[in-house]
Amino acid sequence: MMNVNDLRTWFPSIDGNEEQRKILLSGIERIIRELDEMKDPEKLTLGDMPNYTEDYYNKIAEKSIVPEAGANYDDVISSIMELSKGHRFINRNYVANATPLANVASILGNLLMVLLNGNNIWDVDGSAAANAEVRVTSMLSKIVGYDPDMSSGYTTWGGQGAVFNSLRMAIARMFPHSNETGVPNNLYCFCSELSHFSLYKSMEATGIGTNNLIRVKVNPDHSMDLNDLREKMEEVIRKGGIPLYVLATMGTTDTFGIDDLSAIKTLTTQLEDQYGLAPIFIHADTAMGGMYTFFNDYDYEKNPLQFEAEVVEVLKGYTAKFKHIHLADSMVFDFHKLGQTPYITSLFLVKDKMNFQYVDLDPEETPYVGNRGYGSYHTSYTLECSRMGSSIAIYASLLAFGKEGYQQLLANYVRVNLQFRKRLLEVFSNAAVTNEVAPVTTFRFYPNEVIWEKELQGQATLSELQEVNEFNDRFAELIGIHRDTIYFGNTKKQRKVHVIDHDERQSVYAHKLYTVSPYTTVEDVEHYIAFLKQYMDIHTKELAYA
Ligand SMILES: *Cc1c(COP(=O)(O)O)cnc(C)c1O
Repeated sequence: MMNVNDLRTWFPSIDGNEEQRKILLSGIERIIRELDEMKDPEKLTLGDMPNYTEDYYNKIAEKSIVPEAGANYDDVISSIMELSKGHRFINRNYVANATPLANVASILGNLLMVLLNGNNIWDVDGSAAANAEVRVTSMLSKIVGYDPDMSSGYTTWGGQGAVFNSLRMAIARMFPHSNETGVPNNLYCFCSELSHFSLYKSMEATGIGTNNLIRVKVNPDHSMDLNDLREKMEEVIRKGGIPLYVLATMGTTDTFGIDDLSAIKTLTTQLEDQYGLAPIFIHADTAMGGMYTFFNDYDYEKNPLQFEAEVVEVLKGYTAKFKHIHLADSMVFDFHKLGQTPYITSLFLVKDKMNFQYVDLDPEETPYVGNRGYGSYHTSYTLECSRMGSSIAIYASLLAFGKEGYQQLLANYVRVNLQFRKRLLEVFSNAAVTNEVAPVTTFRFYPNEVIWEKELQGQATLSELQEVNEFNDRFAELIGIHRDTIYFGNTKKQRKVHVIDHDERQSVYAHKLYTVSPYTTVEDVEHYIAFLKQYMDIHTKELAYA
């Protein structure tokens, strides 16, 4: 039987003694070593993937029970290491989504966060993370062009959290009494039809309701069609509704479409003047694209990092759009996407910190923190109460890479995609690339000749389009079986297109290559192409016999 004193070996020391340090270090060493032993650059997973039968999780649940007595150190580590068997590892074989391989600086930052176990709600409880949060907020404000004396920010629950927090702020800014009386029922929000579902969920959760979410059509480059936005905003106004909020997506999740923020700002300002409206809140959803602001002051003429001309061309195009982010009322840095840090490391940045007053709690409502006269950093405007100090991991990464390091990583994503697009079209006579150059390439295969242009122009028939969708859906199934070798992503709604013989626009299916690892280089492209080729040959043969 253990007593409390015995249990102390499960805790870090309070006097810094070497013995207890060694216990912790030995566990960490073992975990890292055993993970390393499972790594295989030719495979996606650590060890073999389990057989995920229907009742896989049910079986696990059935035999799970809190043990009567605690286990010893080695057994606990053995048990948690069991969990990692078959886990996907972000080497060059994972190209399905913008999933990061957490960099070492951020891992150490996270470890420090856990060891200090600060609570980011209050500097008295979490001075390290408060300190790091103030730093990264200022650093990143300067990168995007917010006035660092006016801006503010905090780490929160993802890009989705940033959308929710910005919507809540928009409501309270336009209707300061809505916090007490509830949300008016004639508020409307606008976003691209390719935007992330974050806003849809936030419409539900704020009580505005998803019926009041207006989806705007997209241009061929997957950015919001601003004529359609204007028409839809004016229609809302004509019918007595109030335009509250526009979500400008800067890097759509599947296709990396980038909305024209500057034109959106011009449009909302015009409508405000014309109709005497209160300022319409603009949140730049930069969860996917935000890191590319690191090029905002890159000298493309001198090109100090010597990027290839075609890479420069693409980056320059991004900068032309991302340099306007400072016009948005808020934005987000999702470091756990293109910034290569652990989940969750998202910084919600607000251009004008005065806006926090609309969502702040009365000190009387927060008797637990911040009203003792000590501590000057107190985030009572967050939806979280206790909040993890993930700013430490962000801070560590920014120090480790600097602006240049990130520019190198971000340029490489583009470089690899350029090569992939080129090779795909060379090797496959039945392939089309269906988005602009980005860290992600969407592509589509055809059973016969390529009719992408026709589909995009709305000139295909419904059955033609469906046949191609099905061809791609089946191919996704086929390569999905072999996902422990290479895991490609796919989407059933890359975009919508018109067809000639049906009123409703139809969804386009596509495959995705997302290369956001420092281990995906131009040389690896042949590896992806060979994989696709191997299974496309099987796929077309099967079809011929069918
Ligand atoms: C990923 C993503 C989100 C959601 O971000 P999380 O960090 O996963 O919550 C929101 N918007 C866009 C455009 C995204 O790509």
